[in-house]
Amino acid sequence: GKIFNLEKTDTVCAYCGVGCNISLYTDKKNKIIMARAVENKEPNKGRLCVKGRYGFEYTNSSERILQPLIKVNGNFREVIWEEALDYTTNKLLEIKEKYGPDAIGVLGSARCTNEDNYLIQKFARAVIGTNNIDHCARLCHSSTVVGLGKALGTGAATNPISDIMNSNVMFVIGSNTTESHPVIAQFIKENKKKRGAKLIVCDPRSTDIARYADIFIQHYPGTDVLLLNAMAKIIIEKDLINKDFIDKYTEGFQELLKTLENCNLDDASKITGVSKSLIEDAAINYAKGPNSIIFYTMGITQHHVGVSNVLSIANLALITGHIGKPGNGINPLRGQANVQGACDVGVLPDVYTGYQKVTDESVRRKFEEHWKVKLPKNIGFAVSQFSDLIFKGKIKALYIMGENPLVTEPDVKHAKESFEKLEFLAVQDIFLSETAQMADVVFPAKAAYEKFGTFTNTERRVQLIKPAKNPSSSVKDDWKIICEIAKRAGYPMDYKGEEEIWEEIRNVTPSLKGISYKRLEENSIQWPCPEEEHPGTQILHLNGNFKRPNKKALISSVTFQPPSEIPDMNFPYILTTGRILYHYHSRNETRRVKVLEEFVPENFVEINPEDAKEIGVKEKDLVKIKTRRGEIVVRAKISAKPKKGVIFLSFHFSETNANILTINALDPEAKIPEYKACACAVEKF
Ligand code: SF4
Repeated sequence: GKIFNLEKTDTVCAYCGVGCNISLYTDKKNKIIMARAVENKEPNKGRLCVKGRYGFEYTNSSERILQPLIKVNGNFREVIWEEALDYTTNKLLEIKEKYGPDAIGVLGSARCTNEDNYLIQKFARAVIGTNNIDHCARLCHSSTVVGLGKALGTGAATNPISDIMNSNVMFVIGSNTTESHPVIAQFIKENKKKRGAKLIVCDPRSTDIARYADIFIQHYPGTDVLLLNAMAKIIIEKDLINKDFIDKYTEGFQELLKTLENCNLDDASKITGVSKSLIEDAAINYAKGPNSIIFYTMGITQHHVGVSNVLSIANLALITGHIGKPGNGINPLRGQANVQGACDVGVLPDVYTGYQKVTDESVRRKFEEHWKVKLPKNIGFAVSQFSDLIFKGKIKALYIMGENPLVTEPDVKHAKESFEKLEFLAVQDIFLSETAQMADVVFPAKAAYEKFGTFTNTERRVQLIKPAKNPSSSVKDDWKIICEIAKRAGYPMDYKGEEEIWEEIRNVTPSLKGISYKRLEENSIQWPCPEEEHPGTQILHLNGNFKRPNKKALISSVTFQPPSEIPDMNFPYILTTGRILYHYHSRNETRRVKVLEEFVPENFVEINPEDAKEIGVKEKDLVKIKTRRGEIVVRAKISAKPKKGVIFLSFHFSETNANILTINALDPEAKIPEYKACACAVEKF
């Protein structure tokens, strides 16, 4: 419809994983000029945050890349599509021929559609012949996919966002909800205000959501297992467990009891930096519920013990039976608009679509039949391993769709040194990102608000997205670029459009089989949805129905391990990194949005007032932050938000990049880096 001569398009916000329904208004000059929330529709029901409301502006930016680029003698030269596509195909085939398919790594993107992502993993596997396919979910929720997969059988959020309003106790841990998932924070606050629900927040920083907490636990970064084990011990000692649920639907409880014998509450209090009575309060309130819902984000996942952290969260829900019913459950909040979807369609090195394992012979045969090609058997490498492998000469080329690892990788100086060793780097993007600047070839792609396709939000909700503006005629859909290269490499991938790609995804993915574009035109649908008549699944594991081999959820015995790097004389503070409301990831988009840039134009470091006194810095002073990996100079913000001894830095600014400082210590299973804790020194500059 038209309002004041503006064309209105209903689509999905391109930023965070809440997946808000948004109406974009486009003027006659093909510029998006206004955004409003779609009323009364799940998941946002008329709400939007500042990024949804103003963040569209980047699509109109004059800095968009409009022509393919090839680097010659260190400078980019604009070329026609044919030349860039031929050049890239030849380079990839040459490297494959010379070093084998596993010398090539491929990255999909949580900012691209399910259709784009399905084709990039198919491209990696069927055309290149490698399972070295991954994306930034590795850096945010790979611990969730592994941890919840182990404990519950499915590595995804268990309950819909709307279920917040059915809960009596909201337990939020390691989530700066107001800034990272603003609309969910609005629902949490509303449930407190309208229904008197209790809010428990655990975070090393006193964030905005912590201000609303009835119980606020400010523990040290990296002590989550100890905190959660202590809570479990208290719940057991006070006999607040759900015995029926444990007996009927779980295994591993006896082993947990044994492990908890070694959990001393006084020690836990000392190491976490939280009083015993506060831990007790949180434990009792969570257990009593009667309906307790858990939310967590990267404070839990981004640790070298990320999987253990997730398993300890699952333990709490399983021993109390707060799962498999409305107003309960375990809800990891996914970061990017389609990070759930990119995982679902197989942009991971160990699984095809719907988490079907590449090592499962029958699954692999099924995909070989569908794709009519022999597929690689071994699990591929994760993106967090790429830097080291490139450095050692094992990976020689990277093909990247819409990601910016040269800002987002931990220990990014090392990543950059590694990337310099690559024989070939190709990037699809909308801007000349820091990573694209290092590429040999750059392909100009469409932005999310110029695309058709589907996104899947944090609550497994598949939603149609629609273009609000016409793209420049010289940019292409991400999936079309991939098809062009595949065709040149001798493996034709011909699709008339996004719907045909989605039909193929459905066809090979039992959990998505019942979801068609036709149905999505009417309503969004949450997977699993195995057939056309199925309404979709709002709540996972209803009535203890766990998708594990023996149908029982796993209670795990998890023991505490400190962060991989702990403070010492030379590096006496704990550095933790995270998001701010006004920016998004590597700031590739939000730096091109005037309103957002004006709110926060440069990076800052939060230092607790007591630490600031000790260091001798005042508000707005320039300070040098040093770790064993590097140093940056950034302005100080003296704030009571971080706990004494904890330094907080946002990761959005490549100019003062927090990832120069972070450590590439990986969780052994999830391969997620420990962005949330390393040792640093701080001095006045
Ligand atoms: Fe977009 Fe997330 Fe904000 Fe919703 S909460 S408007 S999805 S950034």
